[in-house]
Amino acid sequence: MRNSEIIHALVYELMPLYQDLDDNIQKIINEHAKECDVCKDQLNNVRDTFDPHEESINEQVHSIETAKPSPFKKLILFKRSLFALIIMARFLILGMIIYFAQSYLGKAPLITSSLILFYFPFVCLTNAIHYVFFKNKVFWFVISFDIFILLFFDNLLMYF
Ligand SMILES: [Zn+2]
Repeated sequence: MRNSEIIHALVYELMPLYQDLDDNIQKIINEHAKECDVCKDQLNNVRDTFDPHEESINEQVHSIETAKPSPFKKLILFKRSLFALIIMARFLILGMIIYFAQSYLGKAPLITSSLILFYFPFVCLTNAIHYVFFKNKVFWFVISFDIFILLFFDNLLMYF
């Protein structure tokens, strides 16, 4: 048996283990594959089978560790900001109505109409957004609060 035949036999046998082999052995296999078509094809097969697989595992790990939590964090942050904004805007509008109500005092229908004009459309819009994004107990609390405000706010203002 000639040396080249021995090397071919060894390389061909080791090929399925290529990915686990030492760098030096991989270099020997690469060198041989340049001269031997049989081993070249075999090496390409091994690389095709292993490389995409390993990459996909790495990508999965990578996406679990870095990419995936980040959109979730952003979504949670977005939801919190949205919620804070909805609540803040609600009190801003109520504060505005209370402020203007000083000149409405004793004119309850005007307070009711300003509630219907400013608060009601806002409430419809934000509660729709709220329902889509949150769908929890808070939604029912907020909508109860809004109904209470719309029904009794003009009466409450009489005590200011
Ligand atoms: Zn060979």
